[in-house]
Amino acid sequence: MVDYLIVGLGLAGISFCEVLETNEKSFKVITDSSQTSSVVAGGLYNPVTLKRFTLAWNANEQLDLAIPFYNALEKKLNIQLDYKIPILRRFSSINEQNLWFEASDKPNLSRFIAPKILPNDNPNIDAPNGYGEVLHTGRIDTSVLVSHYKRYLESQSLILQESFDFEALKLQDGYLEYRGLKVKKIVFATGFGIKTNPYFNYLPLNGTKGELLTIKAPALKEERVIKSSVFIIPLGDDLYRVGATYKWKDKSNTPTEECKQELLQKLDTFLKCNYEVIDHVAGIRPTVSDRKPLVGRHPEHKNMFLLNGLGSRGVMIAPMASKQLFNFIENNTALEPEMDLSRFTKKHFKN
Ligand SMILES: Cc1cc2nc3c(=O)[nH]c(=O)nc-3n(C[C@H](O)[C@H](O)[C@H](O)COP(=O)(O)OP(=O)(O)OC[C@H]3O[C@@H](n4cnc5c(N)ncnc54)[C@H](O)[C@@H]3O)c2cc1C
Repeated sequence: MVDYLIVGLGLAGISFCEVLETNEKSFKVITDSSQTSSVVAGGLYNPVTLKRFTLAWNANEQLDLAIPFYNALEKKLNIQLDYKIPILRRFSSINEQNLWFEASDKPNLSRFIAPKILPNDNPNIDAPNGYGEVLHTGRIDTSVLVSHYKRYLESQSLILQESFDFEALKLQDGYLEYRGLKVKKIVFATGFGIKTNPYFNYLPLNGTKGELLTIKAPALKEERVIKSSVFIIPLGDDLYRVGATYKWKDKSNTPTEECKQELLQKLDTFLKCNYEVIDHVAGIRPTVSDRKPLVGRHPEHKNMFLLNGLGSRGVMIAPMASKQLFNFIENNTALEPEMDLSRFTKKHFKN
């Protein structure tokens, strides 16, 4: 009997595998490639919301867990994942500069907001009002993480690459059975794939499609992330990721010409050098109606759990949500009410 079966290997699934390994629990993973969010993500970790200059939900706690988490993975997998890069918020007006100074004065933000205006020193960027710098930011290479983690699990025969067949799941007394495999508990970490899950599709996970471009801009020579109407994220070798869009109707993972044009138009308002588009990707962010994660136990099936709803901040939230879910299951520690999926239990019994 295996302790856990995890369905889905994005940031959520990987984080939960790590907690299980640390705590010496046995597990197997089943995943397919139907969802791409963790593979295409910009990968930024940034504790400040750059529209309103406020602290992101639980940012201190999340960051303090996330950075050591990814650094430990770098050692374990022998790869680089964490690229510490400043994020510069381009100001569009003097008023925004003033709001930035006000924010830097707030005790909860002073750790993350530098109280000064950086003048623009890059001739290929138009930024007459300068920038504000967010501190303790960076980029996790999520695509490299997912591919290497898969290989790591393959090398131990812990992963099956296929779509989960809900018909094949048998709920037995005190355990679950899936195609001959007996497990004590199952954790679904399938991102927007939750829509095909008959046990949890009552939850209000809406999904927000995002598209990103990769451009090659040899003249740009920028090593910091620039945030204006879109992000420019340096990847090295004159490559930059540009994004992202937010769309609520289309639920496919297919890149569209419309979003490409939207991104290019925004980029051209402040990028002054030539560039070439060399890649274009899309994915669905697992966003929830109240913008908080969905973590916890199924209202009726006591050994069935969910780790989802990481929204547009999976890099920072996944390690914290996984730790809380594990402590909830194994140590009976209460989940933070804001992310406990029991806040939607009424919806389950209505269906
Ligand atoms: C364009 C874009 C940019 C983003 N940028 C950032 C960023 O800069 N910083 C940040 O923190 N976050 C960012 N995000 C959000 C981040 O990607 C998500 O929060 C996070 O990746 C979600 O991880 P997940 O594991 O919950 O879901 P997913 O990454 O979707 O992983 C779920 C996995 O489960 C698999 N699966 C689904 N259904 C089944 C099934 N029935 N059977 C088997 N397997 C199944 C899927 O194929 C997938 O492998 C971005 C997202 C997008 C789309």
